[in-house]
Amino acid sequence: SKHSIPNGNSDSNPDETPSKSDESRLLLSPGSFATEVALEKKIGVGAYGTVYRGIWHKDPIAVKIRLSHEEYSWRREVQIYEEFHLNHQNIVRYIAADHIDSSNGMELWIGTEYHENGSVYDYLLNHTITVPIMITMMYTIADGLFYLHKSIVATNGKPALAHRDIKTKNILVKDDLSCCIADLGLAVREVRLNSNELRNNNREPTVIDITPNRRVGTIRYMAPEILDRSFNGLSFESYKATDLYALGLAYWEILRRCQTKPEENDADVYQIPYADVLPNNPTFEQMQEVVCMRKIRPPPSPRWENHSIFRSIFGSCKELWAENPACRPSSCVIKEQLRNYRSQ
Ligand code: ADP
Ligand code: MG
Ligand code: MG
Repeated sequence: SKHSIPNGNSDSNPDETPSKSDESRLLLSPGSFATEVALEKKIGVGAYGTVYRGIWHKDPIAVKIRLSHEEYSWRREVQIYEEFHLNHQNIVRYIAADHIDSSNGMELWIGTEYHENGSVYDYLLNHTITVPIMITMMYTIADGLFYLHKSIVATNGKPALAHRDIKTKNILVKDDLSCCIADLGLAVREVRLNSNELRNNNREPTVIDITPNRRVGTIRYMAPEILDRSFNGLSFESYKATDLYALGLAYWEILRRCQTKPEENDADVYQIPYADVLPNNPTFEQMQEVVCMRKIRPPPSPRWENHSIFRSIFGSCKELWAENPACRPSSCVIKEQLRNYRSQ
């Protein structure tokens, strides 16, 4: 499928490319949002843009700024927030978007609710966590993903969406240590065909509304079916399954940083998935060799063995990163499993 052309991001390069076929240009006129924001400090720098903390009407907000050659990805992310009225405590809250002229050309802005703790990646680098916090983080991530993945048929409902770049750097930590999913710039929506369309076109029951976009997420978090090119880009289920694979990797990162014996603070050091077998910024081919040919997955920590919650969550990780996408548990199943730990 044309969607499976491998040209993913490196670790430090977390973004998507403007599509040549997307000829649409900026149509809106600049608003006043950007002029009402006082930028304070840089909180994230990527190859494709910078994220600042700013103050807007006395409240702190995060502002992601890109230049105009990144218009495609800006437009796509804004469209997803605005058109689908995403409204969930575990999806980052969108505030507004704007564009302004600057000395570097056009600046494209996206404002979201600011989370001082930064991303799950940032948080795990600097903190170890306890079991109740781990369960809260995992449960709320599953809840956000469940909300994204399902369609809501209602006034102001939403289509089913797949994120396509799930990783700890794209999930934020709120003040109460619950999490919210961010960076929706690569998301795709499910389009359900009606029975007439199905008959006339002899097509699969769902299609995906993306303009051909050559980048498909972050190489390190790419599912085996993307790496071995067996990915079926016409089925929406395939996109959800790649999110679930990446969710398993994120859970493994969180599991390592959780103490089994709080009195000894015995958490493992932070590790990015596959750091034991791959260098920084692995290539597509290196990733393919590890995940598809050698079928390697992140290893358990020995200290998890005698702790049922750790063993059981690691078991869920293994199910989530199953080679066969159809065998991965859904975000709904994962969420229900975690809900049980919550009430224990
Ligand atoms: P990109 O599309 O360039 O990857 P992201 O939306 O993922 O941009 O943001 C990059 C980084 O900026 C995140 O990993 C996080 O560290 C920080 N960040 C983004 N949004 C927020 C926010 N609302 N609050 C706090 N930090 C944020
Ligand atoms: Mg992005
Ligand atoms: Mg990102």
